[in-house]
Amino acid sequence: MEQPCRTEHTVSVGADMVPGMGTEVVRYKYRLRPDALAERALIEEWHRCRFLWNEAVHQQKTGRKPNFTKLGTMLTETRARSSWLREGSQVAQQQMLRTYAQALDASFTVKGRGRPRYKARKKALPSLEYTRRGFRIRDEQLVPKGVTMPVVWSRDLPSEPSSVRITRDSLGYWWASFVVTRERQLIPAVEEDSRVGIDWGVTQTATATDEQFDLPHAEYRRRCSAELAKSQKRMARRRRGKGQAPSKGYQQARRQVAKVHKKAARQNRHDGRAWATRVVDEHQLLAVEDFKPKFLAKSHMARKAADAAVATMKRELVERGRRAGRKVVLVRPAYTTMTCSGCFARAEQPLGLGERIFRCWACGHTACRDRNAAGVILAVAERGHTGVDDVGHWGPPPSGGGSGAV
Ligand SMILES: [Zn+2]
Repeated sequence: MEQPCRTEHTVSVGADMVPGMGTEVVRYKYRLRPDALAERALIEEWHRCRFLWNEAVHQQKTGRKPNFTKLGTMLTETRARSSWLREGSQVAQQQMLRTYAQALDASFTVKGRGRPRYKARKKALPSLEYTRRGFRIRDEQLVPKGVTMPVVWSRDLPSEPSSVRITRDSLGYWWASFVVTRERQLIPAVEEDSRVGIDWGVTQTATATDEQFDLPHAEYRRRCSAELAKSQKRMARRRRGKGQAPSKGYQQARRQVAKVHKKAARQNRHDGRAWATRVVDEHQLLAVEDFKPKFLAKSHMARKAADAAVATMKRELVERGRRAGRKVVLVRPAYTTMTCSGCFARAEQPLGLGERIFRCWACGHTACRDRNAAGVILAVAERGHTGVDDVGHWGPPPSGGGSGAV
């Protein structure tokens, strides 16, 4: 069940598509809307599973070396004794112990992975896993044992799900993540020499060598950052001194801040997917500035939001490009803004941040600063390098076309 845990949007199918191979296993995630009763049932189910998990941790700590077989026996015996456990779903309880056994195994074999720890009543977020025989979908509702709740079917399931994970996030929202099989998506065929360079920025999230692939900084993010500033101020006002319990109002404000963050992140992801799909669909070579968040992170919120947006977009683009079998080259950002995309001459001084136009002292090439940088990034990748420094300043352009700079 190795699957990317992010869900995807379907690629629009054009005439010149080549079929991908076979099927793939992915997760599709939906919002759940349990009523108070259903929510209580889910929480109770969670506490039963949590109890079993903690029991397994205890066995491990007292040297009894639990494994899935031993834990299975333990479950059967405990369920026979306890009517409280019997009220719950055997499937969810088994899955919890299976997850524990896997986590324990991984802690021995995967470097840096710690032993599974106790799940505290107040801190651990609910997560329940059901295999096919542990749940049903009836009248559009999700029905694990003892619970019935509506699902927000934001899109159709591509197949019968083989399992579902029900979780509650830090904001108190419930989600169902189904494991499904679907046809591998069609990837459009592209010209071998279609290529694009991408430069990241603050005023415009992505500037491409071809302006129709620019990604402007979305308006809602600015709105979000205003909203965020407001709720953060409220949080600061309500903060109490050290050693005092936080007030109700403070906790409320903190929740509000988390909500705004999550909303913006979700929107970013959505935008990033649509844009990345478009870029990947039409190019064989993707030369991408290897942006590291610290590069731009300075003080104020808008910058940080822009940073986060860039990080999300970059990840989307790189992952999607690699999955589609495109050539993705990450180019170090050093000197990209002070090098000419036409002749590769490097300016003595970096351009000031306010300076929007790049003018080459050597060949007279003039371009918008970010577009020039995108051109340099592409030119570096075309020459088989990953940094401006690797390229001779006067390196001739590769045969069959220039850097594509405007
Ligand atoms: Zn030049």
